[in-house]
Amino acid sequence: MTLADLIGSRLRDVPDFPAPGIVFKDITPLLRDGAALGAVVRELAARHTGTVDVVAGVEARGFILGAGVAHELGLGFVPVRKAGKLPGDVLAHHYDLEYGSATIEVHADSFTPGQRVLLVDDVLATGGTAAAAHDLIERAGGRVVSMAFLVELAFLGGRDRLAGRSIDSLYLVP
Ligand code: AMP
Repeated sequence: MTLADLIGSRLRDVPDFPAPGIVFKDITPLLRDGAALGAVVRELAARHTGTVDVVAGVEARGFILGAGVAHELGLGFVPVRKAGKLPGDVLAHHYDLEYGSATIEVHADSFTPGQRVLLVDDVLATGGTAAAAHDLIERAGGRVVSMAFLVELAFLGGRDRLAGRSIDSLYLVP
């Protein structure tokens, strides 16, 4: 079985969640399968060995995968959180989602200047979250060298929105 086949077999489509018309890609079947979770984390890490200094992940599912990838690479992890969760001085970015809108924040002292950052999230949909996180990390002094996703919903055009940036997805939904 290929990694893409394994991922596909561990995703659950949930229609009309969290809003009518959205087909939610539920990754919890993959997360609870140790072999599948390990394979995904190892592959994401292998693709970025030696090219990044720190891993950042977007709340909440990006924390799970991102922390695993950081651990696998022997690197640290920076959480990109929803508004109001981080206790220190923060930088914030407001953006639109496939469903609704949101504000994300990072601690202002998260990165050393020019630090090479791998940004990890579970799903690339419209690209709004990744674009916001990318801009936020760069405002905080980090340099996003790549953005890695478990699933890319290609029909939503996130890759076009992120044009010019390095994007890496393990499983493509055309
Ligand atoms: P977007 O900003 O539109 O690229 O949306 C990406 C963010 O929203 C990620 O953090 C995903 O976890 C979540 N997301 C958006 N659409 C979906 C979907 N259809 N299934 C699961 N998660 C989604």
